[in-house]
Amino acid sequence: MRTIRVNLSEDSYNIYIDKGFLGKIGDILVKEKGPCKTLLITDRNIEKVYGNIVTESLARHKFDIRLISLKPGEEQKTLETALLLYDACFDHKLDRNSLILALGGGVVGDISGFVASTFMRGIPFIQVPTSLLAQVDSSIGGKVAVNHPKGKNMIGSFYQPKAVFVDTDTLSTLPAVELVAGLVEVIKYGVIRDAELFEYIEKSLQDILQLNYNALLKIIATSCQIKANVVEEDEKEKHLRAILNYGHTIGHAIETLTNYAKYRHGEAVAIGMLYATKIAIEMGLANITVLERQLLLIKRLGLPLHTGLESEGIVRTLYTDKKVISGRLRFILPTKIGEVIISDRVTEEILQRVLNKPI
Ligand code: ADP
Ligand code: ZN
Repeated sequence: MRTIRVNLSEDSYNIYIDKGFLGKIGDILVKEKGPCKTLLITDRNIEKVYGNIVTESLARHKFDIRLISLKPGEEQKTLETALLLYDACFDHKLDRNSLILALGGGVVGDISGFVASTFMRGIPFIQVPTSLLAQVDSSIGGKVAVNHPKGKNMIGSFYQPKAVFVDTDTLSTLPAVELVAGLVEVIKYGVIRDAELFEYIEKSLQDILQLNYNALLKIIATSCQIKANVVEEDEKEKHLRAILNYGHTIGHAIETLTNYAKYRHGEAVAIGMLYATKIAIEMGLANITVLERQLLLIKRLGLPLHTGLESEGIVRTLYTDKKVISGRLRFILPTKIGEVIISDRVTEEILQRVLNKPI
């Protein structure tokens, strides 16, 4: 087992990474917290494969457990669903000593965290991420939210979990397209902070895709460590944390313009990373190999490279992003593999020029 500490004074917590972990959750939790009323939130895909193993592990240690299973999909991440979850909290008589356990991908983690952060002004919450994306990104850092018709993740807050339990075995049932989309966030960490991680992915892509444990441990632990370091320095995204949004500025615009229906998050971010790199090259900040290495990896993963979207539409959408500050776009631009800068000097003209051409 690998343990990564996220140091946030009284909100500090550990991320535990291991295989064969789900069946031992009760053994660990009973030591850390003792048996209590527990609401286990998951989705139906995940319940089918992992619902029993987790509930049995907890029941063995006398946790009073209620399982609630959502329909899978981002469309479920709404205030209406949150209301149903609050009902379950009341129904199961949760109080401030109880526990909400999120077993699933980013959707389950985000909404469960949102409910945990608001029910009785906050009750303990544990993340058990089952998708690669959630394991390396959304389960760490405390961003919790639901969607609003006006935008994704628009209703939310910062609320840290008490712990994150990553079982790499869960990736064996994750659809391959989801695995690949999650891997984009790992590539992102390499580009923004860790050239050695990037090289490792280039070298070990086959091992990763075949779910070799050591390869998974390496990429997940390194990603979690990078995210932990960034969040420790800037929990509320005043500045540095923005580097985690590399590829996300244009990525979000692509997701918005295609109504979150055509691309998975990671797929849109991959295109966003390539465009951000092209902007950096256009501005004389990076050389062509920075683009070529990312492009090659993204091609090897079979990710889509063309959006068919008009550059005008993308630019217009960029200016409505919630991260726009005083009308200025903020871009995360790579200067080399392993290093990025935060720039508000990307002009509309540069954007048009870059976005007008295919990748
Ligand atoms: P993400 O984790 O990418 O933010 P979701 O929470 O929507 O997004 O998860 C993506 C999809 O993968 C969902 O359909 C979810 O039910 C499914 N899923 C997540 N983890 C697993 C797993 N370990 N095995 C099978 N399906 C999974
Ligand atoms: Zn992301």
